[in-house]
Amino acid sequence: MNKPTILVVEDDAPVRNLMVTTLKTHDYRYLTASRGSEAVMLASSNNPDVVFLDLGLPDMDGIEVIRSIRSWSNMPIIVISARSEDSDKISALDAGADDYLTKPFSVEELLARLRVTVRRLSMMVPENGADSSVYVNGNLRIDYSAGCAFLGEEELKLTPIEYRLLCLLAKNTGKVLTHTYITQNIWGRSWENDIASLRVFMVTLRRKLESAPDSPQFIQTHVGIGYRMLKAE
Ligand code: CA
Repeated sequence: MNKPTILVVEDDAPVRNLMVTTLKTHDYRYLTASRGSEAVMLASSNNPDVVFLDLGLPDMDGIEVIRSIRSWSNMPIIVISARSEDSDKISALDAGADDYLTKPFSVEELLARLRVTVRRLSMMVPENGADSSVYVNGNLRIDYSAGCAFLGEEELKLTPIEYRLLCLLAKNTGKVLTHTYITQNIWGRSWENDIASLRVFMVTLRRKLESAPDSPQFIQTHVGIGYRMLKAE
């Protein structure tokens, strides 16, 4: 894959310059927009690989930019926002953002998020002759057609809900899924009780999946927000 093109959407010039300089230094290609309407236009005309999106834009809310792009594209969107409230991050993720970064951020953090997203992109490109009914991530393998999961050679003894949880996270590898998104997919609704149950199922799933549940290799917790399946190195 060629170096990806990043669309940087940010109205604050110093922050935008910092992002552009970072991308330039690391040989990424980039486009910039300082307004939401411009961002939507550039996204559709240039089809960038990844979007860095500030939520507080002068002409429209960043959430609206996400909704607009999501109406026709799955291009990864990383929200970069000064809003530290979890509810804003959750709204952005539920509108279809892939990840979030809170300002002030470090350049290393920005690049790390970008690498996670680019790795996910490379996973979405089907390899020639690859059997899409099998998911492989490090030593984790899910055979969707047989309905079972393996860690190395050993089959994981998962309950139906644990299996569905694992599949949902696997199909969205690299993407942060909110509690609401997960519970709606698993139980078809999202009540406080379901979110409490989700935590319990996640503990039991991790016990079976992770060799060190305290420093998980596969499923990352985003406190107060949700979970993400990581791509194994
Ligand atoms: Ca702003």
